[in-house]
Amino acid sequence: MANPTIAIVGRPNVGKSTLFNRIAGERISIVEDTPGVTRDRIYAVGEWLGREFSIIDTGGIDLGDEPFMEQIKYQAEIAMDEADVIIMVASGREGITDADELVARMLQRSTKPVILAINKVDNPEMRADIYDFYALGLGDPYPVSGSHGIGLGDVLDEAVKHFKSEQEEEDEGVIKFSLIGRPNVGKSSLINAILGEDRVIVSNIAGTTRDAIDTSFTSDTGQEFLMIDTAGMRKRGKVYESTEKYSVMRAMRAIDRSDVVLMVLNAEEGIREYDKRIAGFAHEAGKGILIVVNKWDTVEKDTNTMKEFEDEIRKEFKYLDYAPIIFVSAKTKQRLNKLPEMIEQISMNQNLRVSSSVLNDIIMDAIAINPTPTDKGKRLKIFYATQVAVKPPTFVVFVNEEELMHFSYNRFLENQIRRAFPFEGTPIHIIPRRRK
Ligand code: GDP
Ligand code: GDP
Repeated sequence: MANPTIAIVGRPNVGKSTLFNRIAGERISIVEDTPGVTRDRIYAVGEWLGREFSIIDTGGIDLGDEPFMEQIKYQAEIAMDEADVIIMVASGREGITDADELVARMLQRSTKPVILAINKVDNPEMRADIYDFYALGLGDPYPVSGSHGIGLGDVLDEAVKHFKSEQEEEDEGVIKFSLIGRPNVGKSSLINAILGEDRVIVSNIAGTTRDAIDTSFTSDTGQEFLMIDTAGMRKRGKVYESTEKYSVMRAMRAIDRSDVVLMVLNAEEGIREYDKRIAGFAHEAGKGILIVVNKWDTVEKDTNTMKEFEDEIRKEFKYLDYAPIIFVSAKTKQRLNKLPEMIEQISMNQNLRVSSSVLNDIIMDAIAINPTPTDKGKRLKIFYATQVAVKPPTFVVFVNEEELMHFSYNRFLENQIRRAFPFEGTPIHIIPRRRK
C-alpha cells in the first residue's frame, strides 16, 4: 500500500522547507553522477518510529502567475487532496498574519487531521508566545525550531498517531508498475491499449485516502500486474494540476510505489529536463526501469532511425545504460504485446540473487583485468563480496579502506557484474565496507 502522506502548508517564509529538509533527512544517494534530483526537493520519503511516510512541501509548488493569496490557497488545497496528515506551519517570530488566517480557515473545513507547528521558537523563553496561535482554531500549537531541530519529535509523534494501521502485506508475486512521462506523450493511450489487449481486468482498487485508482490485471502468461495510477491520467481541471512541480511530485509518489517504472517518451519530441529528473529519481530509488518511446508511427524512418534515437537516449540518460528501450505505438499497437513480458523480465532481474562463490570469481577476474586503484601510495584491497539485498540487487564489497573505492572503480565492478548476470533493467548498488 502507499505510504501515509504528510503535507506541509503555510505562507512563505515561515520555515516550511527548513522543516521539510529536517524531517526528510537525506535520502541516501549511492550513485554520484545523477543529475540534481535531490536539489530543490518538494517530495521525499521519511521515517519516524519505524513508520515510513511520504512528505510533501507544498510551498515548493509554485503556481506561476497566480496572485500571492491564490498561491497559498492552492497549496492548501493540494495538501487537503494529497495528504493523510497536514502540518500547518506559522512563525513564532512574526505572529499571526492574514495569510496564516486564510490557510487556517481552509484547513478547519478539511476532514484531514491538522497539526499546528509554530516555527522559529528557537529558545524556551519564546514558548510563552505560542498561546496566541490558539486563535487559529486548529488546536494545540506545537513549538518547533527548524533551524535548531527542536520540537519536531512531538509533531511527528502526533502525525504518526493519525496514520492508519499498517495494511496487510501485499500479494506476493504481483508486479507493480507505473507509466511516467510528460503530458501528451501517450500514457493514457498506452494504458488503455495495454488493458484492451484481451487481458482480464480483475478490479479497480481505490487508493488509501485519495481518489487514485490502481488497476490490476493478469497477462496471457498468468502473471498478475498492478498498474499504479499516475498523474495526468485523469484531468480534473484543477488549477494546479497542470503545473510541472505538482506533476513531478505525483510522478515521484507513483515511482515510490512501483517495482518497475515505464519511462514514456514521445518520439516526436525527444527528451526534456522533466524526463531526466523523473528518470533520475527512479534510478536513485532503485526501481526497475523500461524506456518506452511512444508514437513511433509518427516518425519517418530509414535504416538508422532507431539506432540514432537509441544513441540520443543513451547520451541523455548516461546513468540509465542498463534500461532497455522499446519503440512502440499506442495508435498502431506496434510492439505493445511485448510490454508485459519485458516488465516481468525486469522484475525478475530486480529479484535475482547470485551465489557468493560465482560473484567472487567475477570480482577476482575483474581485479585481474583492471587492478584496484591506489591513492597516496595505498592500494584498494578487496577481500570478499556478497549480495545483501534484492530490489535493487545490492552488493557489499569488503575492503581495506572505503575511500579507496573510487566511483570509476565501482562503476567498473558494476559493469563486470552486469556482464556476468542478467541485471538488465535494474539499477544495482555496490557498497564498499571496511572489513572489521
Ligand atoms: P518557507 O518559505 O516557509 O519554505 O521558509 P524557509 O524554510 O525557506 O525559511 C524562511 C527563512 O526562515 C529562512 O531564512 C530560514 O533560515 C528561516 N528559518 C527557518 N526555520 C527557522 C527557525 O527555526 N528559526 C529561525 N530563527 N529561523 C528559521
Ligand atoms: P498522456 O497525456 O500522456 O496521457 O497522453 P494521451 O494518451 O492523452 O495522448 C496524447 C495525444 O497523443 C492524444 O491525442 C493521442 O491520441 C495521441 N497519441 C497517443 N499515443 C499515440 C501514438 O502512438 N501515435 C500517435 N500518432 N498518436 C498518439
